[in-house]
Amino acid sequence: APNGRVINFGAGPSALPASVLQEATNGLLNFNGTGLGIAEISHRSKEFTGFLSSVESSIRKLLAVPTTHHILFTQGGGSAQFSAIVLNLLARHRLLHPNLADDERVMDYVLTGSWSKRAVEEAKRLGGGRVNIAADARKFSKDQKSFDNIPTHDSYAFSEDPALIYYCDNETVDGVQFSAEDSSPASFPFHLLKQNSLLPLVGDHSSSFMSRPIPHLADHAVVYAGAQKNIGPAGLTVLIVRQDCIVDVNAAAKLGAIPVPLTMAYKTLADSGSLYNTPPVLPIYITGLVLQHTLDQGGLSYFAALSERKAAKLYTAVKEGEAKGVLRGKVKEGSGSQMNVVFDVLEGGLKNFVAGAEAKGMKGVEGHRSVGGVRVSLYNAVTEEETDQVITYIREFVEQNSV
Ligand code: PLP
Repeated sequence: APNGRVINFGAGPSALPASVLQEATNGLLNFNGTGLGIAEISHRSKEFTGFLSSVESSIRKLLAVPTTHHILFTQGGGSAQFSAIVLNLLARHRLLHPNLADDERVMDYVLTGSWSKRAVEEAKRLGGGRVNIAADARKFSKDQKSFDNIPTHDSYAFSEDPALIYYCDNETVDGVQFSAEDSSPASFPFHLLKQNSLLPLVGDHSSSFMSRPIPHLADHAVVYAGAQKNIGPAGLTVLIVRQDCIVDVNAAAKLGAIPVPLTMAYKTLADSGSLYNTPPVLPIYITGLVLQHTLDQGGLSYFAALSERKAAKLYTAVKEGEAKGVLRGKVKEGSGSQMNVVFDVLEGGLKNFVAGAEAKGMKGVEGHRSVGGVRVSLYNAVTEEETDQVITYIREFVEQNSV
């Protein structure tokens, strides 16, 4: 590959399109003819603010974001949003229901993996409300403790009037993902939620953002995503926030809500056009270029079909390896992620699998340190040809090691 690049199956930061990175090097030296590099130019210059609006309109186009929702740019990653969603939505709930005690302010969490677990832990740590686990996937797992499935629709118990309802669309570590098809038993149970225009539904879409349309986007209070999987470098976090969730956090604090740090308050971001403080200019720039490229390639209908094809082929190869006793898929059929495909190596050795992949110019296939095994990530920048290459390698490995 040009510039000594290898195939990157890493889970994030992950592969970005080479043509875009090449283009970005020009912008690093001279951004849009200004004579200043993108990392050197004022975030308040008309050239940069114009670029920022174009990034916003790309997101609006790609995801068909309704006019009820703001698009905000911030920093701190998905992890900062684990805190921000709690603080902003508890403030909102306080303004709607000033007289409830803290333990009557319920936050519903759907627990499907390591990242939703982190979100739960942060909500508990912050206090100001009570966490209800609306569903815990571990209860339905093979060993009662693994995150290896998406619970079926009869497994959920949502609260009456929660301050927020959280789910994680794609669990990057565990390799499970909600289906985008309402008819699938592994879809998020939107039909079980009390349908009203104030539904406090929060979706962590960090690791599936821009790989396909977001199901029922208009019903969400907040959707968030760190950029560092499908769309750009780490450092930028994209928020899609419904108008009624942009609340006066100071007024809420006067009524007893937890004070919200200004940089975390959605209102600060919205009122300033995401320019309250210096934004991550370079990650925004690269993300803007990637999103333009995403549009040029055909938008999310193109990437949704591509992701489905890539993942289906890879799961088929893993199943073949399973039949031969060499590999073992880690997740229940139908719950598997299209972005992060995880499996164990039973014969031939994990180390040898990883080393063999590296020898063929394929990096980043090791599973997350907390769960081990193999994880092959198939984000948008991983082409179908590259997917075919890892599949060929897997088939060879299985042949060599079948017993
Ligand atoms: N949520 C999901 C689904 C993730 O995959 C990650 C990181 O990989 C996070 C949240 C945390 O994001 P960050 O590392 O940007 O804080």
